[in-house]
Amino acid sequence: MVSRVIPVDEFDLVIFGGTGDLARRKILPGLFRRYLAGQMPRGSRIIGAARTEMDDAGYREMVSEAVAEFGGPEKADATGLADFLAALRYVAIDATGDGGWSDLAALMRDGVVRAFYFSVAPSLFGDLAERLHTYGIADRNSRIVVEKPFGRDLASAKALNDTLAAHFNEGQIYRIDHYLGKETVQNLMAVRFGNVLFEPLWNSHYVDHIQITVAETVGVGGRGAYYDKSGAMRDMVQNHLMQLLCLIAMEPPSVFGADEVRDEKLKVIRALQPVESHHIVRGQYDANGDTPSFRADVENPRSFTESFIAMKVNVSNWRWADTPFYLRTGKKMKGRASEIAVVFKDLGHSIFEGDTARHRNILAIRLQPNEGIDLQVTIKEPGPGGMRLIDVPLDMTFADALGDDAEPATDAYERLIMDVIRGNQTLFMRGDEVEAAWAWTDPLINGWEARNDVPKLYDQGSAGPEDAMMLMHRDGRRWRDVKA
Ligand code: NAP
Repeated sequence: MVSRVIPVDEFDLVIFGGTGDLARRKILPGLFRRYLAGQMPRGSRIIGAARTEMDDAGYREMVSEAVAEFGGPEKADATGLADFLAALRYVAIDATGDGGWSDLAALMRDGVVRAFYFSVAPSLFGDLAERLHTYGIADRNSRIVVEKPFGRDLASAKALNDTLAAHFNEGQIYRIDHYLGKETVQNLMAVRFGNVLFEPLWNSHYVDHIQITVAETVGVGGRGAYYDKSGAMRDMVQNHLMQLLCLIAMEPPSVFGADEVRDEKLKVIRALQPVESHHIVRGQYDANGDTPSFRADVENPRSFTESFIAMKVNVSNWRWADTPFYLRTGKKMKGRASEIAVVFKDLGHSIFEGDTARHRNILAIRLQPNEGIDLQVTIKEPGPGGMRLIDVPLDMTFADALGDDAEPATDAYERLIMDVIRGNQTLFMRGDEVEAAWAWTDPLINGWEARNDVPKLYDQGSAGPEDAMMLMHRDGRRWRDVKA
């Protein structure tokens, strides 16, 4: 295999919250994989920062354990790991106080890219941004990476944007949505804009509807308190599903550049119509024998928060008039599957005698599992006995198609962190996009809160509440199966 790893400039990456769950599960194992891939230039350093008192050796031990627990097959590379650990430093720092900041300032070097990953609670973003400037740690070329949730409504998102804008310009702020770092999501753009086949059909003349599903089998886990205040709309739709919708619906940008792509996504968000209440179905998973219900999981017997949501969304522009987008996401569903399905219209008339089925082409973009793209096409059923038609998938599972030429799987986080070092913002959300998304979301949430809307119960391991099926059935359509 010829390596296609593109080198980046030498960097110092400071991870605030470098001892936390996200750092240990995703960021640090991801950086280790990039190191092994040869993408971390010699001399680059990763500096963990959190309040816990620890020295460099202690931090290296913690990271080594994190790689052992969360790293992929690469964790067996002992020599590589030892070299990677040598690039780690640690500073005990308090985001809200003065302790440790001079130590961090003393560690920073000139002439290398400086990136600061805010892997801490959003309430600390302002403190970090301010102190990075007070202590002269951030220069004009520095980048900051901020994690979701970016606000819980328009007002808080605006406040957060203002806080960051007081110290950094928009070109320095990388708002991460790891869905945008997924290989298939980027492939969606390659397939759409790199082939002559699809773009002419990519509109309401040929597309009947689009389904976006993000189904999880897990419940709220240990995040009950957070999730009860958030729910599926804030946690998944406002960011991840909205971003996927934008990539499907946007007009082709003139070039694949950060502002060009984000300008087009913003236009889509602004073209989203308000959703009528009967086009939204909210659900909560019920208890199942000894397995607790959502309300028990979030320890709130009166919770009205949704663990599932399905909705019919219209984009009011020329391209998508009359082509609805159906979105659905939920926890404790029957399969862990994320996909976007572009369902084309049927032919209207079949020339084949006796053929009464409605044959439809479907372009299904699978985000997980088995990242890949299926194109459902209609062919003749093999064998004698006349012209019988069947629908079959043309499967483009990337790992199969590329064979030995496939790069080892890269996690969305590692890909996005390398984009930060490169200074490429294409796959990050811009401040105005986030605000526009909340401006669309807020009235929907306020609407069901004002109505005291009670989520419908659904069985664990199901496809969600019955009403979600009805949302489609009423329109003569049906959800694709969420495979286990
Ligand atoms: P976490 O496990 O609670 O870790 C928080 C980190 O922040 C710890 O390293 C903690 O270390 C540090 N910290 C807390 N207060 C601090 C202070 N005053 N000064 C300096 N450091 C401080 O949280 P997490 O799950 O890693 O999440 C981090 C961020 O990522 C959050 O915004 C979260 O919403 C977001 N996120 C997480 C995930 C995930 O899968 N975990 C996914 C998406 C987004 P000390 O206690 O030692 O200070």
